[in-house]
Amino acid sequence: MYDPNLLDIEREKLRTIIDGIAEGIVIVDSNQTIKNINTAAEDIIGYKRFEVKEKPVGDFLNLLDKENNLISPDSYSPKGKVDVHGVVFKKNSVNLIDKKDNVKVVKIESRKIQGGAKIDLGSIIFLEDVSKVLELERMKMDFMSMAVHVLRTPITVLKGYLSNLLKANTLAKLEQKEIEILNSSLSGVEELGILIENLLHLSEIQRGKFEIYPSPISLEGVVRSVVKDMKRASEAKGLALVVQSPLYEFPMVKADIKRIREVLINLIENAIKFTEEGSIQISVSIKEGFAQVAIKDTGRGIPPENIHYIFTKFYRVKDPLEMEEGTGIGLYVSKKIIDAHNGEIWVESDVGKGSTFYFTIPLSQ
Ligand code: ADP
Repeated sequence: MYDPNLLDIEREKLRTIIDGIAEGIVIVDSNQTIKNINTAAEDIIGYKRFEVKEKPVGDFLNLLDKENNLISPDSYSPKGKVDVHGVVFKKNSVNLIDKKDNVKVVKIESRKIQGGAKIDLGSIIFLEDVSKVLELERMKMDFMSMAVHVLRTPITVLKGYLSNLLKANTLAKLEQKEIEILNSSLSGVEELGILIENLLHLSEIQRGKFEIYPSPISLEGVVRSVVKDMKRASEAKGLALVVQSPLYEFPMVKADIKRIREVLINLIENAIKFTEEGSIQISVSIKEGFAQVAIKDTGRGIPPENIHYIFTKFYRVKDPLEMEEGTGIGLYVSKKIIDAHNGEIWVESDVGKGSTFYFTIPLSQ
């Protein structure tokens, strides 16, 4: 028997459930008229349920695209039967103007409600206010960038003093043990320096503020200068670090010298870290309109199943024997730097035999 009370009870149950959902929900019929919204949606759009019910959704859901144009309701609640299953519109962050003209960043997903093959029951729109999350993320990144900037100066000062102490005239007055201590202190400070630069770039990349400043540079010269700086670290591990001279005069390339130095330091530092014996050979060559640098080590190599991921953020090959410190951002940042130069970076590796990291920079920039 049909019991009208039962229908009311079910409707009330459904309302309570929808209101309890943390995501904003807007239910729209096939004519883009709002049939209902939940409490979370009221908070997001700033209008109460009674203000919007039975009114056009386009009058209350003020969503803006990247060019700040109003997104038409036809995109998130298209009329008629749409040949899709489920989601008709999905964006992870769009701007929404609420009733009080506040701009919020929302995640939106809209689904068609279809009653069988022919009947169009409208759409259900899910909204999530992600403004606070983004604001927190921005604050975190701003803080990191500030902290990193502040750390840069003392590190540069320390590096300068330690390098001065390691010059020939002072060295003559020092005992072997003292020289060793100074050497390891300088290596530690240098490692800290590159970590700081990587962190700074990471925060710049995340805030969309990462830029390069290219000028004509001698790539071979940069390689030689970085290798000279890293000789101490390789010698401390008993590894030969050699540059193979190109067979011809190497042309200048247009690149950001500071950033390319960082890429080289990251790659050579890794080669030293993950190689126990043998050598690290660096070569520069020209390949089909690109200047190419190869850093070849005789280290542990990278398993094929990990190769695909090593240029992603925070990725480190998990190995119980891998005791070295690391953050998993060096290769990620290096890739971003090379991408910004319109070049490519990749690795070829043989487990147990070694790895060769390559990067290229176009010659015709
Ligand atoms: P980190 O060295 O700080 O861990 P990277 O992003 O520079 O971070 O490298 C990511 C991972 O890739 C390393 O943890 C290591 O597992 C692997 N890797 C990088 N370079 C080499 C290499 N030359 N030989 C073997 N493994 C490497």
